[in-house]
Amino acid sequence: MKIKVAKFGGTSMADAQAIVRSADIVKAEPARRYVVVSAPGKRYSQDVKVTDMLYECFHMSEMDGNFDPAFEKIKERFAGIAADLGLDMDMDACLEEVKAGMYKYRSTEYFASRGEYLSGRIMAAHLGFEFVDAAEVIVFTSGGEFDAAATKAALKKRLAGVKYAVVPGFYGADESGLIHTFSRGGSDITGALIAEAVGADLYENWTDVNGFLTADPRIVDHPAGIQQLSYRELRELAYMGANVLHPESIFPVRAGGIPINIRNTFEPENKGTMIVPEIDESRKGNTITGIAGKKGYSIIYIEKSMMNSEIGFARKVLSVLEYYNIGFEHMPSGIDTLSIVVADSEIAGRESVVMERIQKTVAPDHAEIKNGISLIATVGHGMSFKPGTAAKLCGALAVAGVNIRMIDQGSSEMNIIVGVATEDYEKAVRAIYHAFE
Ligand code: ASP
Repeated sequence: MKIKVAKFGGTSMADAQAIVRSADIVKAEPARRYVVVSAPGKRYSQDVKVTDMLYECFHMSEMDGNFDPAFEKIKERFAGIAADLGLDMDMDACLEEVKAGMYKYRSTEYFASRGEYLSGRIMAAHLGFEFVDAAEVIVFTSGGEFDAAATKAALKKRLAGVKYAVVPGFYGADESGLIHTFSRGGSDITGALIAEAVGADLYENWTDVNGFLTADPRIVDHPAGIQQLSYRELRELAYMGANVLHPESIFPVRAGGIPINIRNTFEPENKGTMIVPEIDESRKGNTITGIAGKKGYSIIYIEKSMMNSEIGFARKVLSVLEYYNIGFEHMPSGIDTLSIVVADSEIAGRESVVMERIQKTVAPDHAEIKNGISLIATVGHGMSFKPGTAAKLCGALAVAGVNIRMIDQGSSEMNIIVGVATEDYEKAVRAIYHAFE
């Protein structure tokens, strides 16, 4: 029998009605054996996610020790869900246990994790599945580092022989039982870890959108959906800001060669986006798969005659960035020129010291830093089969009157990155999108 792991995000768990929809999806296929849940998210745009309410609760406990008023709101939310679902469980006792734990542990991670814990208890009771606490199976070191090997072993052991289970996402525990969490959105990681450990045939990630889009809908009107995406394409798009899935959730499923299906709980008939190890032959006709981009970069330009014959030149420049602990994004070079793209968040406030040190280290003929750059990644395996992709992209930008400040083609030939002035960003994304429509 096939095994599917189904993870439901915050909106899919936001209230009783959403939970019933999610549970109906689980029940529709017996292969959906392991269910991972997020804490209840927003029910409407002005609403507050339970996880944020819990962080607020912790903040209150730190400020004046008494967090009862904040806890009451959380209690109301969960008690309401349990009552609406008519659950056969003692929700009050569950909430009291959580509150006692909060007084006992008083850690931000313990507080934050309780949304998933309670959500998991509710889903397990509603589905009639076994509840497996993430504290038993997602292992962290006492220093708070995630332990992949110990987690895999614990999951395999605990889930062997458990046919149907609900596991809360987002958190785990160390040897002494102290709770640790992943970064925000981390329930996606829990789902991926379970999928890998049980050798699932598919990891379904149920959310509130129909998967990935070919471009940002705030910039391009009604962009097409992406039906299939390779792990590598996903990495590129996710890195550049297409955030439907937590980027760290890719690694476990990729290691197991397990496809990920992004689905919409509120439109279950839509097939969503399928993320696979290798793309189908049929897709090789499409030149590009998607466009994503981010604002907030700077470019360090360095010019020096005969730079290319000076052994170790690039290393010396990079040693300056390393000295200031600054990461870089791209480094295209010419014969006598070198450009380094860095995120503003990395270099902000240190531009002049960095430039001074570059001056001293490599004595360039000219060096300057240009701010206000945005990067746009145009991604697709199809590019490597189609000559003229870069020409088409550059042509479209020229027609739109956008000056390309930097261009870099990834060595995998599935990614062309351009740097443009931030005021041209939206115009550039639209121009590229329409060129390949
Ligand atoms: N509830 C957590 C958050 O809001 C984790 C998750 O939903 O994946 O970040």
